[in-house]
Amino acid sequence: MQRTNSGDNHTSYKTGSLIMTSLRDGYVDMPPTRLRRPGNKVFGNELPQQVHLIDGNLRLSVNAFSLDDGVDVTLIDTGASNAWHPSMGLLPHALREANISVDRVQTIAFTHTHIDHINRLILPNGHDAFPQLSRLLVPKEELDMFRAEARLERFHERAEAFEAGQRIGANIEAMAAPGHEVGHTCFRITSGGEAVLVWGDIVHVPSVQFERPEITWEFDRDQEQARASRLRIMALAADNMSYVAGAHLNSPGVGRITRAGTSFRFDPS
Ligand SMILES: [Zn+2]
Repeated sequence: MQRTNSGDNHTSYKTGSLIMTSLRDGYVDMPPTRLRRPGNKVFGNELPQQVHLIDGNLRLSVNAFSLDDGVDVTLIDTGASNAWHPSMGLLPHALREANISVDRVQTIAFTHTHIDHINRLILPNGHDAFPQLSRLLVPKEELDMFRAEARLERFHERAEAFEAGQRIGANIEAMAAPGHEVGHTCFRITSGGEAVLVWGDIVHVPSVQFERPEITWEFDRDQEQARASRLRIMALAADNMSYVAGAHLNSPGVGRITRAGTSFRFDPS
């Protein structure tokens, strides 16, 4: 997997015959009290030393990923648009910078239906962000949640449920990784003998959760299940030597993961 070009808000990689681009939507700052130890306990003064704070907060990157097979562009997650903090919503700049026309995006698949992943279907001015969109894929377990998002009403009926194990494209397979949300999904992308796992929200705080994967996040719907999924997916990626691409890993959020004793190590690409 090789970097082909990059800018302030995007980094492109060649993987097999595909171009994968990390698109930077921005960041969101969160208090460290959102980190949880087993038993759903918050940290006090014993916050792990390697946790990096900016003005007392954790800073989480918000990334989406596009996959170009030369014909179509598939987008995995879309960023927050103007639905949350103003520190997000850069996806249009990222696409422009990467020279990806919004008219080429025909398929969008969501790792899960939280607002920082789905809202860029609609521009701040209310228009559709992707006028040629023909397939909108939502994890089966979260179709009702998606259809409860009033802001995205015009997409409710168009949304199509997919299941774990399903191939959503010639090079993309959905893998269940529930816990952070009921339908939380990783997408395994393979081409030319290389594999990338676009893993959504398996990690929220990279400075701590590779070294201590048992630590969870307040917004994990099921803390135990999220922990188990993280350990399973990290082991899978490390043992298969696949690259990973994370929605909240520090932008661009793409790299290799290896085992380090009972924990893991991430090396950005
Ligand atoms: Zn997220």
